[in-house]
Amino acid sequence: KISKRLETVASYLPKGAFFADIGSDHAYLPCYTCMRDSTANAIAGEVNEGPYNSALETVTSYQLLNAIEVRLGNGLHVLKEDEIEQLVIAGMGGSLITSILEDGKRKLNTVTRIIAQPNVDARTVRNWLVEQNFYISNEDIIEENGHIYEIIVADKKMNNVKIDLTDKQLLFGPVLLKKRTKVFYLKWQHEYDKLYRVVEQMKQATKPNKDKIQQFETELKWMKEVLIDET
Ligand code: SAM
Repeated sequence: KISKRLETVASYLPKGAFFADIGSDHAYLPCYTCMRDSTANAIAGEVNEGPYNSALETVTSYQLLNAIEVRLGNGLHVLKEDEIEQLVIAGMGGSLITSILEDGKRKLNTVTRIIAQPNVDARTVRNWLVEQNFYISNEDIIEENGHIYEIIVADKKMNNVKIDLTDKQLLFGPVLLKKRTKVFYLKWQHEYDKLYRVVEQMKQATKPNKDKIQQFETELKWMKEVLIDET
């Protein structure tokens, strides 16, 4: 049994996946996937020795060493070229995810699907994905233990026709904006309240940063537009 968060991430891997899970920690996700699908293969990457050892331990205890290889190293550098077809990168901040992707771009030639679960700042990840010829094919937003998580599924585009997303779509997620689930409204009500307080604070400053305030006020307007539609 794994968390609903990781279960949701795993649900976007196809049968017979050949994937990497970067920042795998205990390697729960690859173990869960390879237990349920004997045709799946995974590489679990970890930059830190502690989690790397935990990953090895989990994989060994489930007797999955033939299906999962645990590698110690930074980001996508643990991968050889053209080695994987799907990439999972979950449980980190959006800017860390983005920098790992950018830093390891060369290893993405054969990757047709990226499943990302940024804890914060999903916008940065979406932006990078669309810039790199991926399109967002699905998204989920879930709540677990009082936390809200977003899962982004991006697939490689078969042509070079650029699909631009608006700033609003980048912020809320193009698919989440369509699905508009209860959790989605919960998240954005919370974000609205938070940002509103931030803007109020910024206005009190002796030298207010007008550009930043204006940007945040635009975002508050978008959030209001979205929230007003809740039925
Ligand atoms: N992916 C798991 C999940 O979603 O439950 C674990 C998330 S854990 C909070 C983040 C993990 O990423 C840590 O184990 C950390 O050591 C690892 N990590 C951070 N930066 C990394 C990098 N550049 N390359 C590989 N792993 C990294």
